[in-house]
Amino acid sequence: MTDLHLFNSLTRSLEPFKPIHEGEARVYTCGPTVYNYPHIGNMRAYVFADILGRTLSHKGYDLTHIINITDVGHLTDDADSGEDKMEKMASEKAQSIWDIAQHYTEAYWADVKALNIREPAKWSVATDYIEEMLEFAKSIADKHCYECETGLYFDTTTIKDYGRLARAVTEDGEGRIDTVEGKRNAADFAIWRKTPAGEKRQMEWDSPWGKGAPGWHLECSVMGEKLLGFPFDIHTGGIDHREIHHPNEIAQNQAFCGCGGLSDARNSGANIWMHNNFLVERSGKMSKSSGEFLRLQLLLDKGYHPLAYRMMCLQAHYRSELEFSWEGLTAALTRLKRIVLLVERIADAPAGGATDHPKFAPVLEKFEAAIADDLNTSIALTALEDALATKKVDAGIKRAVIERIDSVLGLGLFELARTDLRIRPKDAVITEEEIGAAFERRKAARAEKDFAAADAIRDELAAQGVEVMDGDPLGWEWKLS
Ligand code: AMP
Ligand code: ZN
Repeated sequence: MTDLHLFNSLTRSLEPFKPIHEGEARVYTCGPTVYNYPHIGNMRAYVFADILGRTLSHKGYDLTHIINITDVGHLTDDADSGEDKMEKMASEKAQSIWDIAQHYTEAYWADVKALNIREPAKWSVATDYIEEMLEFAKSIADKHCYECETGLYFDTTTIKDYGRLARAVTEDGEGRIDTVEGKRNAADFAIWRKTPAGEKRQMEWDSPWGKGAPGWHLECSVMGEKLLGFPFDIHTGGIDHREIHHPNEIAQNQAFCGCGGLSDARNSGANIWMHNNFLVERSGKMSKSSGEFLRLQLLLDKGYHPLAYRMMCLQAHYRSELEFSWEGLTAALTRLKRIVLLVERIADAPAGGATDHPKFAPVLEKFEAAIADDLNTSIALTALEDALATKKVDAGIKRAVIERIDSVLGLGLFELARTDLRIRPKDAVITEEEIGAAFERRKAARAEKDFAAADAIRDELAAQGVEVMDGDPLGWEWKLS
């Protein structure tokens, strides 16, 4: 089976991908809320969306991928309580929201780049679409919304199948959503939040419902509609979005599109809704409120190459929970090193050749079947390793096969050198040049059979955190610990 099948959270089943526009694939990914650095769990969501995009390109679809940047409207609680995350951070840091947004957007982009996540067609910034949000809200307000003191609320009983995506229980009292004064139903949500009387927010706009700011769900509905048109093909996000954010987006989209029920997925605004499962970490270091949390930068500071983390993500299926551990990250790095050592052997072969060769046919078939089966990257990785292990074949063909597989996995194998993958903690006091010079001196001492001198150099290196790795099967001469 090489026709692309994807798991649709709306139907909880695998479905063949059938583009809405012939030859095209239009994908919307809920982007980061830029009030803080992303943690590596957040980045798993974008590695997943990137694999999806790369797979669609590989399958020949003309891809339009949108990832938004949320710089307004996301409250500290996904439901309708708490403060705006951006406003809260800005007041804690006594900075302007715009500066906060810019700083963390750039930090997010740095992680995107380090993880070989391809740039989308557009990074759509929520505050650039306020006019469009007001238009959208006005078009559904009469039939579907009501005003109360805190804002304009969407009445979830005015559309069919509310909450189907979450398989949610929405009866009053059983709902997972805090009650807000004046709300008619527990699941109703704000599409416009008024600035409380006597307060001034850094970000606020005039609206028919008073000064205020858009609700988070409204942003994604509007940017999806404006940039991709309803219905588009695929909407993605982390699995937490399956519970509140996406059901609410869907409710607004249904209202906007004429209120059809969800037995026809197109009424939801997108044909397929896909969700990556969480990266978890038992000691709570993923939480952004925990002080030193798991940012990609922390992995880099400890000396890991960022693509070791991408490798870690690829080893698991995106719908499975993935547990982070330093041991797991080290194992992923070692696997990547083994792959890169084999890739270096064929790096001189010309790029971009043909892949046709009977020896590679089963490997390519395995690879195609794996990614077509709801993006099974863990099996695709084994196909990559099978291809590298294939013996007595032309290096040019082998290179072409690896390039093809890597165009989906996105490890950038031909741009990686084995020395890039050395563990180099930021706080190491010794430089690589110094280590290299010590190794030269040690080699010379050994050549002269002065083993006492050679051992002394080894001890000096050890005292500076450098472990000499004579006879290492991967050919690593040293590592910093
Ligand atoms: P946020 O910036 O909070 O809106 O989150 C950005 C993306 O990360 C969303 O798609 C979330 O669903 C996703 N996400 C949040 N936490 C995790 C996690 N631990 N593992 C994987 N994805 C996550
Ligand atoms: Zn969203």
